Amino acid sequence: MSIKRLRRLRSSAALREIVAETSLSVNDLIYPLFIKPGTGIREEILSMKGQYRYSVDMLSAEIENIKNAGLKAVLLFGLAGHKDETASESCLDNGAVQEAIRLFKKHAPEIVVMTDVCVCGYTSHGHCGILRDGIIVNDESLVLLQKMALSHAKAGADVVAPSAMMDGQVAAIREILDANGFSNTAIMGYSAKFFSACYGPFRDAADSAPQSGNRSSYQMDVANTNEALREIEIDEAEGADMVMVKPAVFYLDIIARAAQQTKLPIAAYNVSGEYAMIKAAAEKGWIDENRVMMEMLLSIKRAGASLIITYFAKDAAKLLKA
Ligand SMILES: [Zn+2]
Repeated sequence: MSIKRLRRLRSSAALREIVAETSLSVNDLIYPLFIKPGTGIREEILSMKGQYRYSVDMLSAEIENIKNAGLKAVLLFGLAGHKDETASESCLDNGAVQEAIRLFKKHAPEIVVMTDVCVCGYTSHGHCGILRDGIIVNDESLVLLQKMALSHAKAGADVVAPSAMMDGQVAAIREILDANGFSNTAIMGYSAKFFSACYGPFRDAADSAPQSGNRSSYQMDVANTNEALREIEIDEAEGADMVMVKPAVFYLDIIARAAQQTKLPIAAYNVSGEYAMIKAAAEKGWIDENRVMMEMLLSIKRAGASLIITYFAKDAAKLLKA
């Protein structure tokens, strides 16, 4: 009898390592950070243990940590000091995020600074665009996103990442950037952003929960794959330099399908809920946090993502270095 012996290549650590089909590197990781207006702020986010909101004056030490961890990229989110109907604080030249971009560029110019472009943290109603008669008005909302993206580019952002799920947002931002001399600022589209229940802790972190209704009229239905591929195709046609699938772990099938369709780099957002579940189970002693974390990140790579936005970035970088 001839047994096919696949176990031969599993017999030593070195053998397993040389035949591994996927690997994780610190270059794959993007670290998200929350920036808050004010001074002296470094507050832990209750539902995201180990993650903090920073005011710009408290950010320098964290930039050092990120550099020392060997991370190459961050994704910045802003909180508002004052919210209104039109998210006016989102595009201030001296807003918290804009100042944070400048600080990164001063202290660590080699780090790629990506910024989230969405107004839900800045609108009084907490929706990702202009709200009129209970409806999020698409085309007028694009103007807010354009202004916000331009203010980030002016402050020095390398990549702006529109996450509002407004139709035409990538094209609108490409147009305003090019018209103002920022043709080298890249766009990462949150192309397939699902209406997921896994964003709960993030809303706590960014103070961005909608005051009424929900985001199901603009974020994607959880049931759909073809629609995700269409979103990616459209963002690509509109000029996106990278595309994203969000969340990551519950949507590995979408990442895998996307990887067959597009030649653009695919980022996957390992979201707050996915982080919080692991943290909570580890705290209870029910799982081995480091092993589960690394297995999860590798699974996202294996599915076809080339970049992973993750709150675990610093922890994973430490293990990858060791
Ligand atoms: Zn939003």
